[in-house]
Amino acid sequence: MLLGLPYDASSSFMRGAAEAPPIIRAALHSPSSNGWSEAGIDVLAPGVLGDAGDLALGEGEAARRAIEAGVRAVAQDGGRPISLGGDHSVTYGALRALGSMHEGITILQIDAHPDLYDSFEGDRFSHACQFARILEEGLASRLVQVGIRTINAHQREQARKFGVDVIDMKVWAGGRRPHVGSPTYISLDLDGIDPAFAPGVSHPEPGGLSVREVLGIIQAIPGPIIGADVVELNPKRDVNDLTAFVAAKFVKEIASRLIETVDSRL
Ligand code: MN
Ligand code: MN
Repeated sequence: MLLGLPYDASSSFMRGAAEAPPIIRAALHSPSSNGWSEAGIDVLAPGVLGDAGDLALGEGEAARRAIEAGVRAVAQDGGRPISLGGDHSVTYGALRALGSMHEGITILQIDAHPDLYDSFEGDRFSHACQFARILEEGLASRLVQVGIRTINAHQREQARKFGVDVIDMKVWAGGRRPHVGSPTYISLDLDGIDPAFAPGVSHPEPGGLSVREVLGIIQAIPGPIIGADVVELNPKRDVNDLTAFVAAKFVKEIASRLIETVDSRL
């Protein structure tokens, strides 16, 4: 079930991600492609992938509560939410909802940045902090990060403190791959992909993953997958909707993997 989270008030550098949900939907439904995943599932066929629309979000605590309630409503209705960001802080609200409904969640995070700051520029709910909050509150048992290439001393210490499995780009280039337990939640920050493939982000960081590599990661998740988010598309920074189409491709492949790993509808 798609759920739009048009929120970017916790972005530390540049706003714009709040405009992304309708643009990802437009790319997903564009007649330039079709709804078929690489595994052979038409995720855009009637009755397969639902869409709960966009939440109306304010700022700060009110927005976090609204995201939590919105994700919980989807999950309680039997859906598995695929949230369309929004900045990456929205993952906190999503896990507030899902962490109380599932035991032993593994989060698979794809990102250039660890987002493990205890606080960033005075904001403990910044899009640089959500995984510190999630792990402190025990909303997931394990965090596996892929694509990291900006870690500093503070965040390295935080990763050690929380037992985070950091597969940074150097380690990835050496051949290490993630092994995720289940249930799995996928948190896909588009800046994990190299800006050559996905320029439309607020924090472009060279030296990242290819689209093909991320598709390989998604397609290898054993599941079950309880939900996902695709975040940090900043349409103001995009070039010819390239990044919007990358986001839509990931939504399609994540939806397909959700169906493949649990034999039920979204
Ligand atoms: Mn992030
Ligand atoms: Mn990032």
